[in-house]
Amino acid sequence: MIRIGLGKDLHKLVEGRRFILGGIVIPFEKGELGHSDGDVLAHAITDAILGAAGLSDIGELFPPGDETWKNADSMELLRTAHQKIKDDGWKIINIDCVVTCEKPKILLHRGAIRENIAKVLELDVSSVFVKGKTNEGLGGIGEGLAVEALAVCLLEKV
Ligand code: ZN
Repeated sequence: MIRIGLGKDLHKLVEGRRFILGGIVIPFEKGELGHSDGDVLAHAITDAILGAAGLSDIGELFPPGDETWKNADSMELLRTAHQKIKDDGWKIINIDCVVTCEKPKILLHRGAIRENIAKVLELDVSSVFVKGKTNEGLGGIGEGLAVEALAVCLLEKV
């Protein structure tokens, strides 16, 4: 059995926070506002794998009001979600993602981001892809007020 999952997330960008994607800190003047570390990409992937398995979603598993997850390392949340789907007999085939923001440029950091996600999810790096896009200056993302991430994943029952 094969299943597809979709995850989507958005965080405001503010000064005084780290800009973090897939556990990799990218030097930038702003970062993601959030209860956890705000790792928008880790959150989208977490929702994609949980949704594909039909198990839960990130908000239910790690409630934003819960003090346990304050400034949490989102890659640890992803690791926990991955363990949950593994316990249910699922294996990830591949993950593909899009991160949309005007700045900073994602391409320079893509290799490190892909490797870090692949490591946490016990995948070959070829099974994790990340694309950076801009919003062509349009809307809140285009004005640099937010960063968005989309992720799809394919799971198989083993
Ligand atoms: Zn989030």
